[in-house]
Amino acid sequence: MNDIVLDVSDVNKTFGGLQALSNINLKINKGKTHAVIGPNGAGKSTLLNVCVGRLEPDTGSVMFDGTNLTGRTPHEINQLGVARVFQTPEIFLDLTLLQNVEIAALARRDGSFSFNPFKAMAAEKELTREAEHMLGEVGLGKLTEEHTGNLSRGDKRRLEMAMCLIQHPKLLLLDEPTAGMSRHDTNRTIDLLKRIKEQGMTKVIIEHDMHVVFSLADWITVLAQGTIIAEGTPDEIRGNPKVKEAYLGGAEV
Ligand code: ADP
Ligand code: MG
Repeated sequence: MNDIVLDVSDVNKTFGGLQALSNINLKINKGKTHAVIGPNGAGKSTLLNVCVGRLEPDTGSVMFDGTNLTGRTPHEINQLGVARVFQTPEIFLDLTLLQNVEIAALARRDGSFSFNPFKAMAAEKELTREAEHMLGEVGLGKLTEEHTGNLSRGDKRRLEMAMCLIQHPKLLLLDEPTAGMSRHDTNRTIDLLKRIKEQGMTKVIIEHDMHVVFSLADWITVLAQGTIIAEGTPDEIRGNPKVKEAYLGGAEV
């Protein structure tokens, strides 16, 4: 029972006349990497937006670690230990990489700093060290003082990943984390996500790149037109004719 970190139950979401999510039920187990795949417009991003409080479901509920997330703000959900890397990175382009990561860390801690000036100074140094370490982890260690606006699209996504990791979330949600990355950077991201897994972090990953999906996923959910059409291990999904049909128009998965 306690092994379920995220429990999406009977979630429906419509936009005008469009049923973007239809009776979605999903359980994410602790420490696992759960991939959600499906064609464009299937409802994948909508599902993540519901999980992080950016969209309210019409019906149904999302439970995280025993807490009902329905009606909570994105900030409250982040405070509970949910971090996300979205399709459009949310970063401060006028600041350095280091400043962005430090701000992300402070956002999660939210006022837990001591007002003792000596302690505050020590905490600030510690924060900078940790932020530098995280930038190194995602392969941006040489760019800590760089202006964020100068980064390539792939590097911005990696920066956003460092901003998530410094929050030490219990659950990390990633919406197409390798979109726009070269093969080399994609492979580095796969390695990073594997290392995070070893540390026990639970992940939900939306991904188009099947190489990434099959390298990382313990379990795969396939969405098409707002409905779950298949679920299973990577091997089961690879051979599933319904998935081939809906997702790839009959091509090999
Ligand atoms: P995916 O991420 O799988 O490509 P989305 O979740 O972004 O799909 O979108 C699912 C469907 O919902 C699409 O038809 C999309 O056009 C529609 N949609 C998504 N967000 C909105 C919105 N804010 N307003 C209206 N329609 C939306
Ligand atoms: Mg999407």
